[in-house]
Amino acid sequence: MTSRGERTEVSVIESSFTVFNPATGQAIAEVPDHGQADIERAIAASDEAYGAWSGATAYRRAGLLRDAYALMMERKEVLAKVMTEEQGKPLKAARNEVQYAADFFLWYAEEARRVYGATIPAPRADQRFIVSHQPIGVVGAITPWNYPSSMITRKVAPALAAGCTIVLKPAEQTPLSAIEVFKILDDVGFPDGVANLVTTSDPGPVGRAFTTDPRIRKLTFTGSTEVGRMLGEAAGRSLKRVSMELGGHAPFVVFPDADPVHAAKGASLVKFLNTGQACISPNRIYVHRSIVDEFTSVLADRVGKLVAGNGLEEGVSIGPLVDAPALEKVERQVVDAVNKGAELVTGGSRLTEEGLNDGYFYAPTVLSEVDTGMAIYREETFGPIAPIIPFDDEASVLELANDTSYGLAAYVYTNDLSTAMRMFEGLRFGIIGINDINPTAAAAPFGGMGDSGLGREGGREGLAEYLETKLGGFSI
Ligand code: NAP
Repeated sequence: MTSRGERTEVSVIESSFTVFNPATGQAIAEVPDHGQADIERAIAASDEAYGAWSGATAYRRAGLLRDAYALMMERKEVLAKVMTEEQGKPLKAARNEVQYAADFFLWYAEEARRVYGATIPAPRADQRFIVSHQPIGVVGAITPWNYPSSMITRKVAPALAAGCTIVLKPAEQTPLSAIEVFKILDDVGFPDGVANLVTTSDPGPVGRAFTTDPRIRKLTFTGSTEVGRMLGEAAGRSLKRVSMELGGHAPFVVFPDADPVHAAKGASLVKFLNTGQACISPNRIYVHRSIVDEFTSVLADRVGKLVAGNGLEEGVSIGPLVDAPALEKVERQVVDAVNKGAELVTGGSRLTEEGLNDGYFYAPTVLSEVDTGMAIYREETFGPIAPIIPFDDEASVLELANDTSYGLAAYVYTNDLSTAMRMFEGLRFGIIGINDINPTAAAAPFGGMGDSGLGREGGREGLAEYLETKLGGFSI
């Protein structure tokens, strides 16, 4: 075993890279470090397989996807353990993610058989219009480390259901979950070349190939807005279809009629999920001034009971951050907020006691009196920090909540139906949770507006991302 701090001394087998456990700093595996020639081979294999796969019946594609679901369920425990080891989330959360990931196989197995077309009344008596949908072609996919299985199946399942073939590059930190998912596809009998995995420590050549190779017809990316923007620009030059699931800066608004205890419970669950490393994690918690003290005290109390540690250990409820830069970003945002007048209610430092000192642990933190001049108010945090901002009225909080270039998720706690509806309609975000901290499912469209991306994953919309629409005009 080698610690991450000694990375330069790892004796790396040629063309491999090391995967580390962020809770312990230990090296846990070596995986192939694919280069240009491997990327070319994968795209060529996908291109070659496309003809037969796109021509397979929807029933065949659905059957294989159903088998993938069943096998993933059978291997749930193995996949969850691998995920906890490479990503850090507690085992229970990893099991939940594997279930969510598998749900995409089942949902798209069902949807594969429902790619319906349409007939349209034509303007001429001797004319007929039919509309059909066809797979878009070979897909290039890139995924992040924070949800190492579900971010993959959310792309692979609809692509394969539609009749596309795919080449996928997972994040460097979490290739082991990707390898397990692709093993499942192999084991259930997807034909060679239909689904191809490229693991690499150097994303540049993959990005270039996916944005310039004429055989790739679609780029689907989940990750930071910065990288998404760069890839989107490059893909635009060759007019590839693009889907982007990018960063977020979610507002969480608690109105005075809401139960502050219930709302604080919701905030503690969604904010600290995955150690705050989620694109839909609340980043600005607006609480009405009349209940802010009670809300803050309940939240701090719950946060204080979170147990940080290695996710494989019984009783651990929050894992580490993914790496040193993530830890540094969180530390910087907290220091900036406190220097500018925020009050540290609980947490506020790195956790370095015995057992945690080799990992990237930061104390679950609550900050109150946060304001618009602080970095945390604008930048995605991606860490276990809950920033609370008091507000006085609905109009001003709606304006504040919308004052961001991101537009992924937003949350509202209220018992007033009219307030709920006005907020649902007024918030410029792709996903709105009304008294609901988990507005996601394989059956529902997930995605954002503005700097949070383009397109949707999940639901019927997620399948449409991999289909071309074709119109037939017939003179009879
Ligand atoms: P990231 O740095 O953008 O990386 C995402 C993926 O892009 C990784 O596979 C990475 O490879 C790859 N990549 C980086 N530079 C590249 C390049 N020049 N060409 C091609 N690929 C490149 O993001 P991250 O830190 O992994 O993920 C966190 C971000 O993802 C957050 O902003 C979060 O909000 C967002 N996210 C969004 C959603 C959503 O559904 N909207 C879901 C999950 C996460 P390497 O690992 O090798 O660098």
